[in-house]
Amino acid sequence: MNDRTVLISGAGVAGPALAFWLSRHGFAVTVVERAPGLRPGGQAVDVRGAAREVLDRMGLTERVRAAGVREQGMEYVDARGRTRARLPVAAFGGAGIVADLEIERGALAGLLYEATRADVEYVFDDSIETLAQHDAGVRLTFTRSAPRTVDLVVGADGSHSRTRALAFGPESAYVRPLGAYLAYFSTPYRNADGWFRMHNAPGGRVVGTRPTSDGRTAAFFSFRSDALDVDRRDRSAQQRLLGERFADVGWRAAELLAAAPAATDFYFDRYAQVRMDSWSTGRVALLGDAAWCPSPLTGQGTSLALVGAYLLAGELAAADGDHRVGHRRYEEALRAHVAKGQELPGGGISGFLPAGRAAIRLRDASMRAIASRPMRGLATRLFFSHADGLDLPEYAAGR
Ligand SMILES: Cc1cc2nc3c(=O)[nH]c(=O)nc-3n(C[C@H](O)[C@H](O)[C@H](O)COP(=O)(O)OP(=O)(O)OC[C@H]3O[C@@H](n4cnc5c(N)ncnc54)[C@H](O)[C@@H]3O)c2cc1C
Repeated sequence: MNDRTVLISGAGVAGPALAFWLSRHGFAVTVVERAPGLRPGGQAVDVRGAAREVLDRMGLTERVRAAGVREQGMEYVDARGRTRARLPVAAFGGAGIVADLEIERGALAGLLYEATRADVEYVFDDSIETLAQHDAGVRLTFTRSAPRTVDLVVGADGSHSRTRALAFGPESAYVRPLGAYLAYFSTPYRNADGWFRMHNAPGGRVVGTRPTSDGRTAAFFSFRSDALDVDRRDRSAQQRLLGERFADVGWRAAELLAAAPAATDFYFDRYAQVRMDSWSTGRVALLGDAAWCPSPLTGQGTSLALVGAYLLAGELAAADGDHRVGHRRYEEALRAHVAKGQELPGGGISGFLPAGRAAIRLRDASMRAIASRPMRGLATRLFFSHADGLDLPEYAAGR
């Protein structure tokens, strides 16, 4: 095999999934993760379409199902908690707005880590500092570890990817903000009935609750905004900002926000998409949100990461480790699928965060219509059918 050693930056979903397949194909894999351990948290993510097949081929479907979240459906409520529209999962045969295979992002990352830790070297609390490509490999220095040279580097380090910045250039060239922010965290409050609830308030704001796998309530807050001057790592500042933005919103906003400071998984970021003309340059490739973040609005980030990991590893193996061939085929196999996965669901940000009272009422009415039997097929297509159809090649295992 030509290129044998691979260093992956990022132990989210994409990194460990790639490590799984690369190690099965006989590559020697190291994953470097900046956080001191696996990062918990994140919303329940859907595993859809071709990603279901990838999970099956990994032998993980039953474990994901067992660790998963069973949501009953989605409900829109007003400021006093009264139902405005209801979309039960059962009505959509699992293919609708809430998928029937859902797992918290952190739990999925944990399962992927467990499935790979025996075969893969994990280095936590570290990050690539510099990266220099030469004919025979990539020379890397790290924040903590000793420098090393590897054959290939894959950036699976999320939408703010450091690997992308080092090998392709600054974030501003590739990241397109969508004009809104998202916060997500778990709370100690019980969630007895398993419904995903949302309350939209004027000003393009929404507060929501989702059931967690341990029967508690996770909270999320989204609001429209131009770029904000808030430090990505300063949680207190982010929580203060949420307090100000949601002070007059009603429903459970105040109670949920009161739980934010104690949450160990508080997550805050802007909605953005990553668009790139190429996902590789020489011996460095990108995968997952680092390459094509579709934004949480699409519900496709995790599925695309799983499918991308399968194809990148498979194409590198099929090319006998020749990155020039493997990287090219990876893009050819995946471009159209990712483009579909990046299509925003009906109305984009304004559909999700309607600005005024009239727009919110209209959205609620359209959700009631969608929930009615004759409209369900259309609703499914409008919301989540985009990146479902992809025939996955079979790659022979290399070990
Ligand atoms: C804590 C967290 C919570 C999230 N919550 C949500 C959510 O609620 N809703 C949603 O739709 N999406 C969420 N996401 C994004 C979602 O996980 C991705 O869209 C999707 O799963 C694709 O995964 P990924 O592996 O490409 O990226 P990610 O899951 O973002 O993983 C990237 C990993 O790279 C690590 N990393 C970053 N920089 C470096 C570096 N310099 N060196 C080494 N490692 C680095 C990060 O710590 C992270 O573990 C969240 C991501 C994280 C990290």
